[in-house]
Amino acid sequence: MTKDVVIPGEFLAYEEEFLEGKNTINTNGKIYSTTLGKLEVDEKNRLINVKNARDIDKLKVGAVIIGKVSFAKDNVVSIKMVEAYSGKTKLILPSTSAFLKVSSVSTSYIESMKQYLKIGDIVKAVVSEIKPFGIQLRTNDPELGVVKAYCSKCRAPMHLSQDKLQCLSCGSVEIRKISTEYEVK
Ligand SMILES: [Zn+2]
Repeated sequence: MTKDVVIPGEFLAYEEEFLEGKNTINTNGKIYSTTLGKLEVDEKNRLINVKNARDIDKLKVGAVIIGKVSFAKDNVVSIKMVEAYSGKTKLILPSTSAFLKVSSVSTSYIESMKQYLKIGDIVKAVVSEIKPFGIQLRTNDPELGVVKAYCSKCRAPMHLSQDKLQCLSCGSVEIRKISTEYEVK
């Protein structure tokens, strides 16, 4: 059992393996978590506990996330979040999917975001809204946006020089909403 963050309703173990401990419930022989938190397995007493995530550790508006573009349309892209931080504190991700709308990409007007964020790109963004239907992000600050882009023709990482993204493998030049912290130079 290597997973350390669990969500409410997540299956943890069978009652033959463990007894239900803190913040867990036994339903028909299966033990589930009742909260968002960290999984703690007490091997000695065969107990399974979920330690409540402190509020300070939970994903919140204003947190900085690193994620990967998983789906792109003209007006919205879907981002799979990998890490989240508030200052230097690493935060717990209740789910990994988030959205970025065309209006939150840049301070300048963008008609279609397809060329500014492409599938597979690594993005630094800030959480702007957390709603039951989804987590919304924004990249409309200079340090936010794509930190690593992949060539849409040959998938090689693209290099940034003089505000231009160029693929050194095939020569393709592309546009992105580039972060000032772009990694490949
Ligand atoms: Zn290329």
